[in-house]
Amino acid sequence: GVKVVGLTGGIGSGKTAAARYFAAQGVVVVDTDELSHALTAPGGRAMPMLVARFGPDFQRADGALDRLRMRELVFRQPSARRELEAILHPMILEDSLAALAKARGAYAVLVVPLLFESQAYRDVVDRTLLIDCDKEVQVARVMQRSGLSESQVRAIMATQMPREDKRRLADDIIDNSGSLSELALQVEAKHRYYLSSLARARS
Ligand code: ATP
Repeated sequence: GVKVVGLTGGIGSGKTAAARYFAAQGVVVVDTDELSHALTAPGGRAMPMLVARFGPDFQRADGALDRLRMRELVFRQPSARRELEAILHPMILEDSLAALAKARGAYAVLVVPLLFESQAYRDVVDRTLLIDCDKEVQVARVMQRSGLSESQVRAIMATQMPREDKRRLADDIIDNSGSLSELALQVEAKHRYYLSSLARARS
């Protein structure tokens, strides 16, 4: 199969934006958040198990997971969060591997928000790429996108692995504290680097 670059970063660091620029270079991008959404969309593969475990009240009329209700439950009940993850995580990993197996090109990008926290994903990727961002810029962008208050955003960030730890663990780092065009240029540079360093000789 193709080589896999694991793309990660904290909340609102710019993972989605960076992934879009890789896709624009023709790189196959597999996003675990998107796979998770598909699994819990109407007709999603995880829905039968979720309904069996949590009850029909957690399913909306259209068949999708009632995200708001589930978020409230797992917020109150850590055991429910663990059960939700026990159902979803293996399916997300399975779908990631299936998508990567179909990928063509010198390499593919796998977007995993909690990459460094997950041994299963660290085993899948050949290199790790951290989308890093100045903390104040990150807070401002998340506030703007979500409408959360500054203290709410900082509270979420406080639960995540410290930026310095991620920087230490990452093979490669892109600094997304600047403009989107600066991000695009850095992605293009990394793309050229991955093409030359990850490409395998073909027979
Ligand atoms: P999450 O995992 O929390 O969903 P993310 O890491 O995927 O977030 P993005 O959604 O790409 O981050 O970016 C967060 C917000 O910041 C978005 O509204 C995005 O448009 C904006 N953004 C990202 N990079 C830049 C940039 N360089 N300049 C301006 N805005 C940016």
